[in-house]
Amino acid sequence: MEPYLQSVYEEVVHRNPGEPEFHQAVREVLESLAPVVSRRPELADAAVLERLVEPERQIIFRVPWIDDDGKVRVNRGYRVEYNSALGPYKGGLRFHRSVYRGIVKFLGFEQVFKNALTGLAIGGGKGGSDFDPHGKSDNEVMRFCQSFMTELYRHIGEQTDVPAGDIGVGGREIGYLFGQYRRITNRYETGVLTGKGIGWGGSQARTEATGFGTVMFTERMLATKKVSIDGQRVVVSGAGNVAIYAIQKAQALGAHVVAFSDSSGYVVDEDGVDVALLREVKEQARGRAGDYADRRGSARFVTGGSIWDVPCTVALPCATQNELDADAARTLIKNGVVAVAEGANMPCTPEAVDLLQESSVLFGPGKAANAGGVATSALEMQQNAARDHWTFPVTENKLQAVMDNIHDACAATADEHGQPGNYVLGANIVGFNRVADAMLAQGVI
Ligand code: GLU
Repeated sequence: MEPYLQSVYEEVVHRNPGEPEFHQAVREVLESLAPVVSRRPELADAAVLERLVEPERQIIFRVPWIDDDGKVRVNRGYRVEYNSALGPYKGGLRFHRSVYRGIVKFLGFEQVFKNALTGLAIGGGKGGSDFDPHGKSDNEVMRFCQSFMTELYRHIGEQTDVPAGDIGVGGREIGYLFGQYRRITNRYETGVLTGKGIGWGGSQARTEATGFGTVMFTERMLATKKVSIDGQRVVVSGAGNVAIYAIQKAQALGAHVVAFSDSSGYVVDEDGVDVALLREVKEQARGRAGDYADRRGSARFVTGGSIWDVPCTVALPCATQNELDADAARTLIKNGVVAVAEGANMPCTPEAVDLLQESSVLFGPGKAANAGGVATSALEMQQNAARDHWTFPVTENKLQAVMDNIHDACAATADEHGQPGNYVLGANIVGFNRVADAMLAQGVI
């Protein structure tokens, strides 16, 4: 890395010990910025990078709640308000055992650039808790969400910070969180959270948006090589919100989706994944991947090994960070993969990304390829501000336009820097420049 960028990186490692995911996310962005810092000396003068790698505010709080046996439990809550140069902090809440400060910071950092890429007026933030919703009753989840919001409400607001869902936080949790916010503040402030129910301020297509957007982005990457998504053999990891709607959209465009996964293992279904059954198992019954295989003759459930062993031409990692490593990338390349797009945040390790790019596989980084979710959250905020409600097709068309614009901006910037097809470079530079310009204009704050 260029010496100035290296020194910024080393300071990040020094100041944030024990947070490897955060270091990884910062490093990946800094590695793309050498051509930018050499062209723009004003960035170093105003310490834009040094300021950007430091979140504007980090909130850590205790979340006590009472389980169904009457026992008091304690979790830890986080909200990292990362950067608000372009708009109110915006980003999801993740409820998962693995959540700690480093995960929230890496996600917040990614969110800043992702949100800038959407072209909509949103800054970046992220939050969550180490609470594990698996095996908890509805009432336990409700009491946890109420306790979480009892602290969080004082930090958020439609002009300040607008959380949404992420892993472990879906419509049910957003409902409980919104209810508690409304009760504590005595304000029906719809724009304070996104991912709300359609009947009370939510947007059409928000649930589908991340998965749909990832496939839209993939389709446009493939089109640069004059390849259609129709007829591609697709593997999608994950079985949550992102994966389910990536599968649905890919199938609608004629792709053959043969596998999905969850933390218990993966399912291969050579007849094509039955999305209705998958939704029934995951969304209604809150079951496991194995339950899908039990109910479908063409499916087999595999534990151990890797979903990336399943041959495919398009791979969409939609589960979690660092789920696709160098070995997986080698297997995918050997099996003839043409495109990989990240539906999850940072699912590919840096080594995997390098291998894919060296082999000329089209690679869509998460901050571009999965920006459809947060973009549609921003559309939800627009509807809330106008007390309006758009139809599904209207919203989906706007999402399509956002994804096409992100793709084209990344591709054009990669071309400009003499690296055609390098979407990592394109996404990092476009996102960074937008945030940096706003920070420069707004002074040293
Ligand atoms: N959690 C999603 C993401 O990673 C969506 C955030 C939002 O809608 O605010 O972008």
